[in-house]
Amino acid sequence: MVNSGVMPFPGFADRLADVRRCIADARARGGHGQAVRLIAVTKTHGPEAVELAYSHGIADVGENKVQEAQQKMAAVAVPVRWHLIGHLQRNKVKFTAPFALVHGVDSRRLAEELDAFARKRGVVADVLMQVNVSGESTKGGLAPAEWAGEAAHWKGLTGLAVRGVMTMAPFGAPEATLRAVFAGARAARDTLRQSGHPAEELSMGMTEDFPVAVEEGATMVRLGTALFGARENT
Ligand SMILES: *Cc1c(COP(=O)(O)O)cnc(C)c1O
Repeated sequence: MVNSGVMPFPGFADRLADVRRCIADARARGGHGQAVRLIAVTKTHGPEAVELAYSHGIADVGENKVQEAQQKMAAVAVPVRWHLIGHLQRNKVKFTAPFALVHGVDSRRLAEELDAFARKRGVVADVLMQVNVSGESTKGGLAPAEWAGEAAHWKGLTGLAVRGVMTMAPFGAPEATLRAVFAGARAARDTLRQSGHPAEELSMGMTEDFPVAVEEGATMVRLGTALFGARENT
């Protein structure tokens, strides 16, 4: 939709206030005492979504496609941190340099590619291990049986700082399932820590399920629809 000077995303401020209240309440109920960072997912929206979020105190934005993100990065002036939250193909690793955090590291081969790219640039890249707790075949991520072995192997990847875990819960699942998935991701983070990784983050919770995710210890929630309204396409 072409925007002709009309204020985009009407109701954004109210929705954000609701989201913040919801996060605070869930955090209190959960009792994990964690800090929760709100990542505004701006995929499919234009640069004005990033600028709007930033003007309301959100300094973290999430994109799921590298090329779309690059165009937006070039078009915005505000100093947000860019999170790559979607599935990353190995041939696109070379585009990850501008991202503060790559959430979706879902295989050993991808971890190794990111490691090689970081070492070539002389940096240490912050990443999250994506886990698939429920074994849902449509979602990426490492299965529970793989966590310990990968955690040990990834210790040898000196170009990576594994900051924690990312997961996606099955869409529309009952609360008990969501809770089990999010608690499972927390256990994956424990496994990383036991292997000596600096793993503090739990990136989990989308519009449908973020209150449960925060109750279960999420440190980063990734919200698009809750902030900007429904996307026209995804
Ligand atoms: C799109 C997306 C989100 C945000 O989804 P909403 O339901 O709109 O909040 C979060 N995480 C990932 C990985 C996504 O692709």
